Amino acid sequence: MALIYQGTKISPGLGMGQARVVEKLRLEPPAERPRDPEQELLRFRQCYDAAEEDLRKTVQEAQEKLGGHEAEILDAQLTLLQDEYAVLEPIQEAIRDEGLNMAQAIDKVLGGIVELFQQAADEYMRLRAGDAEDVRKRLLMRALGVTPRDYSVLPAGTILVAEELTPSDTIRMDLAHVSGIVTSRGGYYSHVGIISRNLGIPSVCGVPEAAEDGDTVLVDGEKGVVTVNPDEAELALFSERRREAEAEKQQLDVFRTVPSRTLDGEAGLICGNIGTAAEAQAALDAGAEGIGLLRSEFLYMDQPALPDEETQFQAYRQVLETMGGRPVIIRTLDVGGDKAIPALPMEREENPFLGCRAIRLCLERRELFRVQLRALLRAGSYGDLKIMFPMISTLGELRSAKAMLEEARKELLREGVPVRKVPVGIMVEVPAAAVIADCLAREADFFSIGTNDLIQYTMAAERGNPSVDHLYSPYDPAVLRLIAMTAGAAERAGILCGMCGEAAADPELLPIFWGMGVRELSMSPGAIIRSRAVLANWRAEDCRSLAEQVLLCGSRQEVQDILARTNGQQNARQV
Ligand code: PEP
Ligand code: MG
Repeated sequence: MALIYQGTKISPGLGMGQARVVEKLRLEPPAERPRDPEQELLRFRQCYDAAEEDLRKTVQEAQEKLGGHEAEILDAQLTLLQDEYAVLEPIQEAIRDEGLNMAQAIDKVLGGIVELFQQAADEYMRLRAGDAEDVRKRLLMRALGVTPRDYSVLPAGTILVAEELTPSDTIRMDLAHVSGIVTSRGGYYSHVGIISRNLGIPSVCGVPEAAEDGDTVLVDGEKGVVTVNPDEAELALFSERRREAEAEKQQLDVFRTVPSRTLDGEAGLICGNIGTAAEAQAALDAGAEGIGLLRSEFLYMDQPALPDEETQFQAYRQVLETMGGRPVIIRTLDVGGDKAIPALPMEREENPFLGCRAIRLCLERRELFRVQLRALLRAGSYGDLKIMFPMISTLGELRSAKAMLEEARKELLREGVPVRKVPVGIMVEVPAAAVIADCLAREADFFSIGTNDLIQYTMAAERGNPSVDHLYSPYDPAVLRLIAMTAGAAERAGILCGMCGEAAADPELLPIFWGMGVRELSMSPGAIIRSRAVLANWRAEDCRSLAEQVLLCGSRQEVQDILARTNGQQNARQV
């Protein structure tokens, strides 16, 4: 009988094939103490040097073979491994002073670092525990002389089943032949989440020990369901869904390269949201006409020290060069609140989402902000850069942030660094900003509506809190009215209004947003072509009339009723 597991979807699509269980390495340190600690120290140094050399080569290989994300993560691991203060010295001390054998010492020190990461309040930081774990494994394998199994050649249609996959694992794997991934650990932002989305491999996590080698496995990355050894009927149904999805994908593929337009030719942009510099290429391949949101947090999140100006400049430049003259909106640092960065200790707050977050933090920690602004301005010479400030609630904040940008510009000019004038926009994600959008529009070059936060602040319903989920919806008239106010103010002031929250990718809401005047929609790259196809089916005039009707609604139900009626008519027109 088939076994069906509900997990967490981390990469969309439908995968089907034969399970290959990735072995769990036994890395137990032996109990005996070394007789001669000095001798053990020497052995450790040899093992450490070999592991470092090995990781260095792997970073290089990742840069050549895969680029981007893998190389960045492995590079961060190399930095951790080379950390004298946190890694090297404590291990040597444990061997010298406590008489531990090298495997025990490695396990103790790196195990401690893993635990520290695991206890972090922020989900992203917790996921970085995987990187520290990877470094621990790498050193222990050397110390214990364990060689991992070879996955460099896999049969087509392999479904990888693993506890977790780290960058060191995936770099050695034949991912081109992998049709699906099922892990027990990991999450949306974990390595396996990022790599599987980048490579378009359907993946589900949160399913422990789902299958054995050779089992037939169906991975439903749309619903987060994993089916092991399905019966004939389940198999046939899944195959049919795969065929339909494939046909739809092929049909939609023409929308990868055509410009974004309504049926009657009103033009706009459909862009990609990215979370690391390396994802720019995937967005471009998915049909992005630009980057509507680069969340710059990735540079700060898993680093022991704040990224310096040069590191940031190189990352921004990489995105701009990849996008080759297409618009790129880089959002300045949005941390604080629930997102902590290790290099910047922050005070605990009772209500972090209402606390010192994003632009509020940057205006307080001026040096932190100054470094980022300088890096951005320098990168501005390499493409069509636009800078965006997050969480603006007052005109004063916008003016202060712009003044700091101007100071940074003058500073660079005095140093003889060429800088171009860069358009400056804001995220409209706090209701206060939507309410004074007319005033902000006089001083901002563009808006981008952040629906993820706008909904939570409008409805006073925390994003991701299941107990208030019923309130958190982009279909709520209060949210829709704020979006209309923002887009209307932008239109009257003659500036571009975009949207980069999750709602931008909702095909039902797209015509409403268009009708309100939103002309740039930015979303996960995987949603781009479908959205472009939806837009191509709507006449601009119908979008405006739909928006008008929706703005008269007093409840979410009324909005949904109107949409159900309109979609019926729209579908009838297409037939
Ligand atoms: C938003 O709030 O809609 C947004 C895009 O920002 P983030 O999800 O990064 O807070
Ligand atoms: Mg936001």
